[in-house]
Amino acid sequence: MIDLKKLEVWFATGSQHLYGPETLAQVAEHSKEIADFFNKSAQIPVTVVFKPVLKSPEEITNLCIDANSSRNCIGIITWCHTFSPSKMWINGLKILNKPILHLHTQYNQNLPWSEIDMDFMNLNQSAHGDREHGFIMTRLRINRKVVVGHWKEAEVQERIGVWTRAAAAWYDFQNMKVARFGDNMREVAVTEGDKVEAQIKFGLSVNTFGVGDLVKIVNSVSNNDIDALLKEYDQTYDVAKDGQQGGKYYENVRYQARLEIALRKFLTEGGFGAYTNTFEDLNGLAQLPGLASQRMMASGFGFGAEGDWKQSALVRALKVMGHGLNGGCSFMEDYTYHLDPSGPKALGSHMLEVCPTIASDKPRLEVHPLGIGGKDAPARLVFNTPAGPAINTTLVDMGNRFRIITNSLDCVIPDEKMPKLPVASALWIPQPDLKTSAAAWIYAGGAHHSAFSQAITAEFIEDFAEMAGVEFLHIDKDTCVSQFKKELQWNEMYYMLAKGL
Ligand code: MN
Repeated sequence: MIDLKKLEVWFATGSQHLYGPETLAQVAEHSKEIADFFNKSAQIPVTVVFKPVLKSPEEITNLCIDANSSRNCIGIITWCHTFSPSKMWINGLKILNKPILHLHTQYNQNLPWSEIDMDFMNLNQSAHGDREHGFIMTRLRINRKVVVGHWKEAEVQERIGVWTRAAAAWYDFQNMKVARFGDNMREVAVTEGDKVEAQIKFGLSVNTFGVGDLVKIVNSVSNNDIDALLKEYDQTYDVAKDGQQGGKYYENVRYQARLEIALRKFLTEGGFGAYTNTFEDLNGLAQLPGLASQRMMASGFGFGAEGDWKQSALVRALKVMGHGLNGGCSFMEDYTYHLDPSGPKALGSHMLEVCPTIASDKPRLEVHPLGIGGKDAPARLVFNTPAGPAINTTLVDMGNRFRIITNSLDCVIPDEKMPKLPVASALWIPQPDLKTSAAAWIYAGGAHHSAFSQAITAEFIEDFAEMAGVEFLHIDKDTCVSQFKKELQWNEMYYMLAKGL
């Protein structure tokens, strides 16, 4: 359900008529070479489209109009091989509503020491051309990403790749429909929020459906379809003995297959990218979706428990960003701690709904009673998560704005086996350490729910927040609580004042 190559980033080169046709032909040739190189780069997953060199205000404005109205254009990369006077860019940039990456590169990597002459100087002017270009974007208060370095450098391609993935998620976000089965868990504050503002700010369309709408489909699922899906479960997971045919929980596994088929039908036919449910509103369902929600996430759908539509949309966004990369992405909750002063850690999990894309080994399919909700024992996948870098990201509604918080983590292998844990889990040491991370997260009002990923880094989220024009806080190895508290206070001021800028 995610196809990044069908999305386009337009490669636009700024210049002017001053240099004459010969130089401009070279500028065009070089720019095309760079665009083609990026288009073939393994680091850049979208299609990079070369656009004719921009030499006049009319050409620039027309490009921006075209980019705005193109369905597949998710952003533009600009750079100035030569000087491109920036007043020519004002009218176009003022109306551009797609993300911008300003690539500060130069066609030639090295100075041709023994041969440098005025022709070289006339052609390779990005060192000053891109400063003029940068000024006007800053003057217009335009959010963008600036990437510096020679275009063939691996690091430059990687950073452009990150931005294209964030732009793809932003594009997806602006067209995303989130289905909520039931409302939020009663009395919970952080899962609430302004859905009208979310649509204004993000384009997210968040609407509630009575769980009965789902129940109707659940009850109409055929036994043949359930049989086919059970075969897939057998091939994909280690199914516990009591969940196999003849076992006491066999019907419980079949019921989750029924739920999965119904959820997939409802969400696919309705064009939804993400959904929520709540254990407090399961009227007509025999189990809380566990295995079913885990597998929906694995197919690319966003999910939020207890009505958490913000995290559901965010999980989907992280899935788009990380598509095709190593490592998975899941809905997550800081669940419980290991507070041993010699090495504090956090165990992330949920009642059931952790996505198997983050499993280190073949998941076990098990059925256990659930302590809350008063429903039948739900089937779920149980697994651990591999060691390595990860992030937790959360989206909260501050009342006057949205805030995104990301914590860089290091996942670790559990100190000991946890044979009685009936749910999937991830164990991590948050950066810079548990005490600092948790204090900063709590001061920032970060939710207990998050979107967890081992495929992407905080840079993806920073780019995404920049595109959305949303506050971004990063808790990482350099975070110091007293400095972080000041950042929160400064941001409080900034976001009040920024409305007038
Ligand atoms: Mn929860």
